[in-house]
Amino acid sequence: MPLLELRDEGLYCAPGGFYIDPWGPVDRAVITHAHPDRARPGSKSYLTSNDGEALLRMRLGPQAVIQAVAYGESLTLGEARVTAYPAGHMLGSAQIRIEHAGEVWVFSGDYKLASDSTCAGWEPAPCDVFVTEATFGLPIFRWPSAGEVRDSIHAWWRANQQAGRASLLFANPLGKAQRLLALIDSALGPIFVHEEIERVNQIYRARGVQLAGARLGDGEKGWAGALVLAPPEAHASAWAKRFGTASTALASGWMRIRGTRRRRSLDRGFVLSDHADWSGLLSAVEASGAESVWVVSGFRGPMVRWLAEHGRRSISVDTRFGEAEP
Ligand SMILES: [Zn+2]
Repeated sequence: MPLLELRDEGLYCAPGGFYIDPWGPVDRAVITHAHPDRARPGSKSYLTSNDGEALLRMRLGPQAVIQAVAYGESLTLGEARVTAYPAGHMLGSAQIRIEHAGEVWVFSGDYKLASDSTCAGWEPAPCDVFVTEATFGLPIFRWPSAGEVRDSIHAWWRANQQAGRASLLFANPLGKAQRLLALIDSALGPIFVHEEIERVNQIYRARGVQLAGARLGDGEKGWAGALVLAPPEAHASAWAKRFGTASTALASGWMRIRGTRRRRSLDRGFVLSDHADWSGLLSAVEASGAESVWVVSGFRGPMVRWLAEHGRRSISVDTRFGEAEP
């Protein structure tokens, strides 16, 4: 019997009596991370990692019943043993390992293999069945190193400083913005953050993540020369008008696709994702040693085809995950 099955509310583990990242309200939800496509309100109880608890609380509110476990600590739910492994996607992100009757499945959630000082690094979790995302599951998605991205952001920021402009950098406020703050050299100039990012920063700092330099801005000395981090929704908003003729940029894996920057009316694009690129996805599948792979979001068809052509059993499972990378 498969350890996970697709039901109306989400992926259900019958031996354990729980759902993973359900999109409908359920009795018991195991949550991989606090992005909105994974952590939805309305369930009676939630289980997540210690590092992710406060972020999940921010999303679900004070009334939510949340239990937290450390990475590597096993819990018995029903007849299943459940263990969280770091997924490297953002603070608190977990892969969920399920063991029952000698069989092991790993639900990897969203993940990346690249290093990121703001969260625990991805760890391989050997299993019989590996359940993976494929947000960037096409060979065209290859990420530059974080160092290359940092250097190009610095160069853009310096050029804007010389031109007397503000640099307005858009990024997912949950995870990506904090990774950028840890990456960018705060000695280059003042860094301001949108209040939505500051709320998340406070939770990161409380978990011991160092995020230097950023502050909420009132612009008393003007914005020229400053770097301002904001959620993508702030682009072309009334909020953004205060920065005058700022140069605008987005940090996202989608910037790898030619034309995306122009379509979104941005001056620059930086290729930085909190998901694995194509080779990262394949490395994770390989490291799992799994006989079968379920592909549950993103470019499911191409990834399933590639895996089948390379001798691995795989199926595409239609879920509601995967709108988190702006
Ligand atoms: Zn995510």
